[in-house]
Amino acid sequence: RAAPGGAIGVAHRIATRDLPAPPTRGTVAEERAALETASHALRTRLSQASDHSGIAEAHMSLLDDPEFRAAVADEIAAGASAPAAWRAATRREIAALEATGNTLFAQRGADLLDVERRIVALLVGEESGRADLPENAIVIADDLLPSEFLALDHARLAGIATVKGGPTSHTALLAASRGIPMLVSCPAEILKIVDAEPLLLDPDAPVLHRRPEPELVDRIAGDLEHDRARAQAETSAAREDCFTADGARVEVFANCGSAEDAEAAVRHGAEGCGLLRTEFLFLGQQRAPSRDEQTAAYREIAEALAGRPLIVRTLDAGSDKPLAFLAMAAEPNPALGARGIRLSLRNLALLEEQFLAILQGVPAGQCRIMVPMVVDLAEFRAAQSLLRATEQRLDVTVPTPLGVMVETPAAALIAEELAREADFLSLGSNDLAQYTLAADRQNPALASAADPLHPAVLRLIHRTTEGAHAQGKGVGICGSLASDSMATALLIGLGLDELSVGPRSVPAIKARVRQLRLQECRHLADAALRESTAEGVRRLIREAEGETSL
Ligand code: PEP
Ligand code: MG
Repeated sequence: RAAPGGAIGVAHRIATRDLPAPPTRGTVAEERAALETASHALRTRLSQASDHSGIAEAHMSLLDDPEFRAAVADEIAAGASAPAAWRAATRREIAALEATGNTLFAQRGADLLDVERRIVALLVGEESGRADLPENAIVIADDLLPSEFLALDHARLAGIATVKGGPTSHTALLAASRGIPMLVSCPAEILKIVDAEPLLLDPDAPVLHRRPEPELVDRIAGDLEHDRARAQAETSAAREDCFTADGARVEVFANCGSAEDAEAAVRHGAEGCGLLRTEFLFLGQQRAPSRDEQTAAYREIAEALAGRPLIVRTLDAGSDKPLAFLAMAAEPNPALGARGIRLSLRNLALLEEQFLAILQGVPAGQCRIMVPMVVDLAEFRAAQSLLRATEQRLDVTVPTPLGVMVETPAAALIAEELAREADFLSLGSNDLAQYTLAADRQNPALASAADPLHPAVLRLIHRTTEGAHAQGKGVGICGSLASDSMATALLIGLGLDELSVGPRSVPAIKARVRQLRLQECRHLADAALRESTAEGVRRLIREAEGETSL
């Protein structure tokens, strides 16, 4: 499943087809001119359609990629029509990307295809309009490109099922951020479903039921209605600040990767952004974003948060997030290679540009910065001295709070020393689990092995909160463990002051915090720290839920 939730509705097939492109057409000059006109039209449309998700921007940069344009120009010079030339260059690049087997490159392939379909449609004069959907449509497609998703009438769209696409594809992320359930990797038989066939997208299991039994429809309709009512009640309660039942303050922030996320975070009651993943500005780009582009993006996000605190994480590239514009040496174990702050400290000009853009885009007072993948104090000090020098260049007199992400066992073990100099700590439990348990988080076969509820991870989290508090500093958690309401009691018991969760999880996590009592959370944490397996910790959590107000 790529975007959570269930739906009851009727099938609507979307056949994504390649429009025929005539192999040859006008003269070379005519085809060049036609291509310029179509590119200009698409550029205008993309800039109007920018929905802050970064996707329109990514498509724009593909459209303007000089190497790619040169390949198309060569095809036209060799006699191909403009649409045939664009398609040939696209398909060649996609084949080369697919050969790498890297999922991020596959994403770029999907984006290239999306741009190709739109350019060819403009060149052959057959642009499809906004698809007319029936009420409660469950869209069935082989694959659904971001522009095709955005062209759908979302008021009538109940769900999506596709044969292709992965859970981290742009379309899946867009669907999740709009609360539209989506299933990917469905069997190819779904393409035989005819329009208007009744369908049920199961909210509990990743299954699409065809012509569901009335009993199942009634039961799921009841569940969905119940979930909707609860989510509505939680969302309206989420506007209030959050305290445990016995009055301990716990801040609930949201993780964001775009201005759209920041808007969703505020709508769902987040008190700030606890992690802005700035990679969205850098990945898949042929050149580093300019300072102005970065400043504009940070400003838009800060404005969406309307004065609430914004913790910007400096670029966390490397490992599974390679940068196309930096020459990066091939590494045998990239997760243990030059990533996060290590990579930034080897490219100081890039880090300095980012600091300048953050300081110019986010108002002082609202702005906090943190650095990822720190393993020692020297790295923190290097980042801090560059930040202070950058502040001086801009005549910023009040120092910006600078925090450390605790994502490695090394950082957790020296948390107190880090907290002595850093302004705050933020636990990245995704990487902390990966590095503590030697379990690659990218490897689906190890999904259950990289379990952040393993007592070794919990002991490192505890050591981190103790270290931060001994130095009078606050500590938050922004890994996905924070979004799991099963872990909320444990995290509060371990001493976390702030939970930063997916924007849509804010209401449920706030509702959970309000049910808890600090003393009971601490007892649970004490017992969990003495366990020796993740299963043991889960059992304790379930028992505590049965016995106490937990
Ligand atoms: C983490 O590692 O927990 C984290 C929040 O960072 P990311 O998931 O972006 O690596
Ligand atoms: Mg991380």
